[in-house]
Amino acid sequence: NKEFIVYLQPKYATVTEKLSGAEALVRWISKEKGFVSPGSFIPIFEKNGFITKLDDYMLESVAKIQGDWIKEGKEVVPISVNISRIHFSNPNLADHIRDIVDKYDVPHHVIELELTESAFFDDKNILLNTVKKLKEYGFEVSMDDFGAGYSSLNSLKDLPLDIVKLDGEFFRDSDDKERGEIVVRDAISLVKNLNMRIVAEGIETKEQVEFLALHGCDLIQGYYFAKPMPIDEFQKSAFED
Ligand code: C2E
Ligand code: CA
Ligand code: CA
Repeated sequence: NKEFIVYLQPKYATVTEKLSGAEALVRWISKEKGFVSPGSFIPIFEKNGFITKLDDYMLESVAKIQGDWIKEGKEVVPISVNISRIHFSNPNLADHIRDIVDKYDVPHHVIELELTESAFFDDKNILLNTVKKLKEYGFEVSMDDFGAGYSSLNSLKDLPLDIVKLDGEFFRDSDDKERGEIVVRDAISLVKNLNMRIVAEGIETKEQVEFLALHGCDLIQGYYFAKPMPIDEFQKSAFED
């Protein structure tokens, strides 16, 4: 019923504060319930399998809008889409993704796929194959929620990813700020030493931005710069300023 809406949250370059990307996040505006947070329906969709349809819908919407903007001559930035863990049992996932994007004649490098950290615990071989193929096709591939609950250091070693997204939890208040800062600083240097880019998520304060700039974090996504917003609002701020 067209109740699922694509929102885009901008990502900014840490030092230059230039718009450098965006993440597509779903919003459910239900006729009966009103606004429903993804935190309450995504887990249900992951259980009943509907999540694969939703993710395909989000990917297709993003490919379409990028295609439209490119045709209008706009200088687009890469937009990332979340790919839920259960997609990864499909050995043809990379081709499936490519086929959706290719309906809209969009260069693959403006589409990024965010794989949630928990996806890295199923069949390693399928995952490795899928990531390799996606990269061969020219898509950007990132590990989402890095550091949130599972240790995925092994995956960093084995998988040729482009980008690591540092989980927002690192930046929530904790009792010992200094220890938190050491972990973030060294996580950044680990990722950079592996020649990948790093995005910090959930960044809310100027102090955090300054800290991340000092330690070489590439991109920032968070309320400090912008909240997720409807596509037309993103379009205004991205292309009409
Ligand atoms: P995520 O992929 O880690 O997305 C980032 C979440 O952080 C988003 O929550 C975003 O609104 C929120 N966020 C961004 N900046 C800040 C900040 O400065 N402070 C705080 N406190 N939060 C911030 P959202 O949109 O509620 O989405 C929650 C989760 O639902 C997402 O986490 C993702 O796992 C899932 N999700 C959302 N859309 C999709 C989708 O299309 N497909 C799939 N598979 N999962 C989705
Ligand atoms: Ca994400
Ligand atoms: Ca995340």
